[in-house]
Parts: sequence; C-alpha cells; structure tokens
Amino acid sequence: MRKVSIAILTGMFAAIASVAPAQDVLPTYVLISNVTLWDGSSETSTGGMNVLVEDKLIKQISAEPIRTANATVIDGGGRTLMPGLIDMHTHLMYRYGVPATRNMDPQSQGAAAYETMQLYIRMGYTTLRDVGGNSLGLSRSLVAGQIKGPRLYSSGGAISSISGHNDLGLLTEDPKSDVFGKRGDVNVVTGPIEVREAVRKILRGGGAQIKIMPGGGVASQFDPLEATTLMEDELRSAVEAAADFGTYVCAHAYNDVSINRFLDAGGRCIEHGFLIEEDTIKRMKKLDAVMSLQAYAAYEVFKEPEKIAGFTAENARKGRQVNEGADRMMRWIAEYEVDAFGGSDLWPDAQLALIPQDLVVRQRWFSDVEILRQNTSNAGRWLAKSGTKNPYRDGPLGVIEVGAYADMILVEGDPLADVAVLADYDQNIRVVMKDGEIFRNTLQ
Ligand SMILES: [Zn+2]
Repeated sequence: MRKVSIAILTGMFAAIASVAPAQDVLPTYVLISNVTLWDGSSETSTGGMNVLVEDKLIKQISAEPIRTANATVIDGGGRTLMPGLIDMHTHLMYRYGVPATRNMDPQSQGAAAYETMQLYIRMGYTTLRDVGGNSLGLSRSLVAGQIKGPRLYSSGGAISSISGHNDLGLLTEDPKSDVFGKRGDVNVVTGPIEVREAVRKILRGGGAQIKIMPGGGVASQFDPLEATTLMEDELRSAVEAAADFGTYVCAHAYNDVSINRFLDAGGRCIEHGFLIEEDTIKRMKKLDAVMSLQAYAAYEVFKEPEKIAGFTAENARKGRQVNEGADRMMRWIAEYEVDAFGGSDLWPDAQLALIPQDLVVRQRWFSDVEILRQNTSNAGRWLAKSGTKNPYRDGPLGVIEVGAYADMILVEGDPLADVAVLADYDQNIRVVMKDGEIFRNTLQ
C-alpha cells in the first residue's frame, strides 16, 4: 500500500504532490529468525536461517543474524519456512454448485468467493488461479487493496462452444445469453472472431490468462468426454489474441484429440488431461507444455462419482472414466518428467476442506519435494507467463529469494519429509504471510 502511494506521487500526480507534500513513509520490516528454510525449488532445506522482509518483498536471507532496528521479529523456533502454497485451479464463483448459483446474484457469489479465499489463507495458500467464473472484479479489488485475501489470477468466464463444457444454460435457454453468460461467468462463442472478442473483453476486465474448453467435461450436460468442442481456428484465435497481450491460454482437455488440437494451435497449458495417450505425453515434454494436475478430484472424488451432489447417472459415468485414466496419466507425467503444477479443482462447498489432500494424494506418484514444487515454484513460473497481464510483476512468486514477494508460511514439522503435515493446517500452519503482511499467526 505504501509503495503504491509513492509510485502514484512520482507518476502522473506529481503536480498535486508539489502542492501537498507527502509525509515520509518509512518501510515496514519483519524479521523471521531461526527457521529451517525451503526456498521453493531446492532438494533440501537449510537450518538456522533468517529472512528479512521489507514491505512486500524479501530483502535479505542469511545464516548470520540479521540486525535491524525497526523490525517486527518472529522467532521461527526452527520450524520450516517455505513459500506460500499456490492453487492453480479454482472456480471461486461456483462454491454452491451450478444449479444453486443460477439463483444467486453476483453480490452473493462474490461474498461466498470471499469466504473461500479466507479459508485458503488459513490453509496456507497465498495465491490462487481461478480458471472459470467471473472473478475479474475480485482480482481488481485485491490489486486495489479494497479487500484482503490470497492473490488471484483470474481467467474471467471460460470460453466454450455451444454444447461445450461451459454451456451451462438450461435446454430451453439460448446458450449464448443464459444467466451465466450475462454475468460473465462463461463466454459461449462460435468462430474465431467471437473467440477474439471474448479474449479481449476478459483481458480488458483484468484477466491474467485465458481459460478455454476444447474438450468434453464431467460435470456438464451437453458434452460427452470424447467430444472435441472447438475447432483449431477457434483455439488458435484464442492463443494468438492472448499472446498479443503477452499472456497464455490454458485448456480444459481430457481426451487425447482435444489435447493435440490445442497443442497444434500453439497452446501449452493443459488442465485435467486424464484420457491422454502416451505419445501425447511425450509430445508435451518435447514442446515444454505443462500439465495442471487435479489429482484428488480425479483419483479420489471420482472413485465414487455417484455420491457427488447433483451428478446425474451420465455425469457419474464420465467421472468413473476419468478415474480410470488418472493413475496412468499421473504415472506418465512422473516417468517422462513433464512440467506439472497442482490445481485442486476442489471448489464445491462440500470439498473445500479437502483442498490440502490434493497434495497428499500425489505421494502415490511423486516425491514430497516434487509435490511441493508443483504448488510453489512450478506454479509461480507459469503465473509469470501472464506477462503484461500479470497483476503482480514486482517479483517472482512461489520462491523464497531476495526480491521475491514475501508470501511465506511457517510450518510445524517437515513437509519435505511428508507433505501430509500441511493437511493438518489448523495445527501445523503457524504463520501465513502474504505481501509482507501477516494474515495468520498462532505462535503468540
Ligand atoms: Zn475446473
């Protein structure tokens, strides 16, 4: 906040500043001493470290004691200090599910999303990437400092075809102007021109990246999982329109055809991907494409999809199909070392408490340090690919290094030995800092 006021004064309002001189604003320092530091990328952590935060950025990291006069000091007591977690796949606007949300107004949707964001902070998540739903205003309010919560990289309403995964209209409604379309929670389009228009509208509203729906999904009504619902020219249009603004497109794609078509069109970020073929895994590796992993949703929730509220028999059948592909896909990702990050997709109210389990379930395929990277530095690297549309460009996210954003959590126990300590968040996540500000501290 303070940095912002200085930036404004040195910018276009310099004339006003000369009339009413600004008060000297001293930086705020927080020193977190005596921690076992895991930086977000290294194989191991280092004991006896001290980290100094100046305003919103990390200023100094040292094994020697750091002396500073005006710092608030937190004695880490040897606990693990690591980057705040990042969830790369949320749908904040749909907390109460599609049917109930149809009858909510945008204000109530926003209030419910705000509560979810506060829960994320308690769980140690300091950044979210929302991949479908009109969370653009929430992102703007966070940037403006009007509300507090985790950072939000919003995709706005996902782009879908008629009868695609985000055609959420009732059968009797015009799919292009149903209630979700009117609110900007979805963008149902036909043809490359409408795709371009949707991309530019989302980016105009503060979208950081674009979400598109090239293939069928589980929870929707008109799109079999095998269906490929957008043409290559439509996908290419999205990728190129986003690239013009320096950002990227991520694609909801389960089946192999839709994944390949998106890769053909220049896309490099795949969500879900559970019905992928081995050759396409190798292609992703060659292209430096990334797989966004929804491990718990696919492997655990879809084990018994008939138990999911609101699921029809057809939704449940699709859920089981995904569940059958999940183990195979995750094994290939690990075997071929495809770039990957973690996005829980656990957005319904009944599943929110399970979000940290998305880390734990991945122990089946990945080492603890790989899992942690998937929700810190790997995720942070992809968030930075939103380029000119990145709402947070003053430093990297998902790492603890000098110049990085001061988004960190202090953890009881050793998550590098067992990520499950993070699942017991109320006990083990003792301090949550975001932007240099302490959001939670159970040490005192
Ligand atoms: Zn999703």
